[in-house]
Amino acid sequence: MYSDVHLFINGAWTPAASGKTLPVVNPATGETIGAVAHAETVDLDRALAAAEQGFHVWRRMSAYDRSKIMRKAAELLRSRVDTIAPLMTQEQGKPLAEAKVETAFSADIIEWFAEEARRAYGRVVPSRVEGTTQMVLKEPVGPVAAFTPWNFPINQANRKICGALAAGCSIIVKGPEETPGSLAAYVQCWAEAGVPAGVVNLVYGVPAEISSYLIPHPVIRKISFTGSTPVGKHLAAMAGAHMKRVTMELGGHAPSMIFDDADLDRAASILAANKFRNAGQVCVAPTRFLVQASVHDAMVDKFVAKAEALVVGNGMEPGTTMGPLANARRVPAMEALIADAVAKGAEIRTGGKRIGNVGNFFEPTVLTGVTPEMRVMNEEPFGPLALFSRYDTFDEIVTEANRLEYGLAAYAYTSSHKTATLLGSRVEVGMLSINHHGIALPEVPFGGVKDSGYGSEGGTEAIEAYLNTKLVTQAI
Ligand code: NAD
Repeated sequence: MYSDVHLFINGAWTPAASGKTLPVVNPATGETIGAVAHAETVDLDRALAAAEQGFHVWRRMSAYDRSKIMRKAAELLRSRVDTIAPLMTQEQGKPLAEAKVETAFSADIIEWFAEEARRAYGRVVPSRVEGTTQMVLKEPVGPVAAFTPWNFPINQANRKICGALAAGCSIIVKGPEETPGSLAAYVQCWAEAGVPAGVVNLVYGVPAEISSYLIPHPVIRKISFTGSTPVGKHLAAMAGAHMKRVTMELGGHAPSMIFDDADLDRAASILAANKFRNAGQVCVAPTRFLVQASVHDAMVDKFVAKAEALVVGNGMEPGTTMGPLANARRVPAMEALIADAVAKGAEIRTGGKRIGNVGNFFEPTVLTGVTPEMRVMNEEPFGPLALFSRYDTFDEIVTEANRLEYGLAAYAYTSSHKTATLLGSRVEVGMLSINHHGIALPEVPFGGVKDSGYGSEGGTEAIEAYLNTKLVTQAI
């Protein structure tokens, strides 16, 4: 079922000019299941020429016509959920049900951007002199270079493609080499929907080689990256040296604050589902569980029960609720973080070990008694680790929530309107969700502050990110 993946340049699938490929490995079995084309400079030059040409065509197409093509792509994607999702599960590991949700939800996102593409309005500013007009025009920034990771192979690229295309930009996506097949099948939907050649281009290769070639290139006017904070800082610096617009969607270490008046059953259900979704490889996954002392033990018990009820296994098997980690290197990373925490006094309440010796399986893990000296309380685990600590007061919880340089998502559970309102102003994040998991819908902003990056990949801000503002003023 899994076939080799080529580059998509100027409306056609082609191997790399050199013929080079990289292997694609199934993280549940360790087996090589295919190969992905490895682009080099000559391929990137073709993609750049295509994106430049595609931009001139797409920017001149009316928003009405662009919107029609976008809606067609959404329709095609939705009709192919059952064939695309298994590709994602085989290459990435997540349970088939999660892969289906990601694929179908990406179609919803395309539709929302297709609607909003028709509403990227400018404005008319009243002038000081009769007969003079002052128009604020919104224009597409130009060809975009986007770099997207392996945790949500379609969704991460989709948000960037949607923002760019809604604004009238063309795009070159450097997709995830670990998980290229589902993204390629998604890009095929754009091709069949009638997007002109060169508007959407997809390449794979060595990430550092591709970013250091595309970012400074004069054709590229905007950079968008999703990945780790250190890589994001490096790419943002490169973009800054060439005065390129940037969106950075980086790591997080989400505080999940549980107050003594919270509905604990609701908190445990929603937070555990979101902690272990995609085996915890989610930038907005709840990670630091900051619990008020009187409910700490009860909350841990309820959460541990949820973790122990998970069925870890190959995502293609019915009944699996958590798959393997996508990359073999993350297994020793989990082991090292846990060993450091235990050496410094943390207790393993459940999990803590890899499972078997085939595939990258790791137990859903709950640690209690964690402290700020432990590595895991400072580094993004990006895996199935939940870290519990106990606090007496609101101020202590908020101080810990804001302690890290990360500022992506935060969660809170309380029945106090006063507590909820104070959290809204005190917690330093891009997204705060109280008493439910309400983030990442297409119509609401998605992004972080501090070391979690800047810019938004949801809501009207996600189109604004790909638009320049131009003043045209005219007198009679
Ligand atoms: P990594 O830092 O090696 O890579 C992260 C992503 O950046 C990958 O997609 C990789 O291909 C890309 N990348 C790396 N160097 C690059 C470069 N010079 N130019 C362009 N792209 C480059 O980490 P990893 O082991 O793949 O993943 C683990 C870490 O990555 C996690 O700790 C997490 O912080 C981060 N991550 C975040 C997200 C997210 O959704 N924000 C997604 C995936 C990974």
